[in-house]
Amino acid sequence: MPGFELFGEKEKLQVQDVLDSGVLMRYGFDGMRKGHWKAKELEVAIADRMQTKHAQLVSSGTAALTVALASAGVGVGDEVIMPTFTFVASFESILAIGAIPVLVNIDDTLTLDPRAVEKAITNRTKVVMPVHMCGSMADLRALKDICSKHNLLLLEDACQAIGGSYEGKPLGSYGDLGCFSFDYVKTITCGEGGAIITNKEDFYKNADHYSDHGHDHIGKDRGAESHPFLGYNFRISELNAAVGCAQINRLDEFITIQKRNYTIIRNHLEKIDEVTFRRVPEGGVENYSFLNFFLPSEELTRTTHRSLGEAGVDTCFYWFDNNWHYYKKWEHLTNLKSLGKLPEEVKNQLPDYKKSDFSNSDRWMGRTISSLIKLSWTEADVVKRAEKMAGVIKTNLNTGQ
Ligand SMILES: *Cc1c(COP(=O)(O)O)cnc(C)c1O
Repeated sequence: MPGFELFGEKEKLQVQDVLDSGVLMRYGFDGMRKGHWKAKELEVAIADRMQTKHAQLVSSGTAALTVALASAGVGVGDEVIMPTFTFVASFESILAIGAIPVLVNIDDTLTLDPRAVEKAITNRTKVVMPVHMCGSMADLRALKDICSKHNLLLLEDACQAIGGSYEGKPLGSYGDLGCFSFDYVKTITCGEGGAIITNKEDFYKNADHYSDHGHDHIGKDRGAESHPFLGYNFRISELNAAVGCAQINRLDEFITIQKRNYTIIRNHLEKIDEVTFRRVPEGGVENYSFLNFFLPSEELTRTTHRSLGEAGVDTCFYWFDNNWHYYKKWEHLTNLKSLGKLPEEVKNQLPDYKKSDFSNSDRWMGRTISSLIKLSWTEADVVKRAEKMAGVIKTNLNTGQ
């Protein structure tokens, strides 16, 4: 997945433009910048690649989620439905604006189970936030139908699946709002950065203003701009955006490499009867940043994961025991450990997760191994790795019976 693996001359040239002008900020300084508008240029490139009317760059993927929610008018006491398997940024962004993260089960797509979503809807629900974890997507058609029926917004977190698609549409562009991260380990990187995409003019305008203190960006004098509503600073720097200008043009090249490496490993593992694969919803195309597969039992999966590591295959994840990506280790959320006081609404409305039944999620995650797909591997490297993985899995299946 990581775009940093292929950082090179194209990225350096873009950054050099910014260093030569000395204008490290994305707004203003028109005379000094010698025609370089890297953030604006990257926004045009993202909107074009993602087939949406608008793109707004911000400082991170977490900022993108926060700004997306804020731009849609989500606030204190509103409920946002999110999955049990995701990165902590999901609930951080929801809590940042005073809204309530409502966790629901995942299914064999490893993303939101539409039936669990429908059950979790209350009259305070505003948003359904599927997270396209590890390169593949949620059942977006089912989720969109639910959102239309209950008048909810669909916000796609496509941070880990940029370049994938669903029913011919780039992931992130199917819902009302989509978010990307360009942090250092994502498929394409800015070092740090994120983006919101949308076809809705008012959400875009709100995101543009909100991410820069409420500035309306009318005219050429920043000091004279008005501020129609309260905002914050989630700006990306021009240096980070410059790296992205080079990387966005390489997205399809990166996806092609990922697909080749993914397919080699998958072909080797498919020969083992006990190995099954994550369900990709009909109409979906992955971005191949991970290969996700199931083994027959939790115990076998845990021991196989350990054996893979011992055999030198250090790019496989067992999320079930991971500190960051699964609800079981989110004690800081379940115990609401914050530095300062939280809004009463959050304290009163947050479901008691110690009593929640997420056994359906456990059933899938307990048996899931995700193999990261790297860009720097040669074809010969991948074949060797795939053979090793298949060997380790077979040995564990034999001794585990
Ligand atoms: C990386 C990531 C984020 C947050 O992005 P940052 O740029 O690191 O803030 C959000 N959601 C998912 C699924 C991610 O993988």
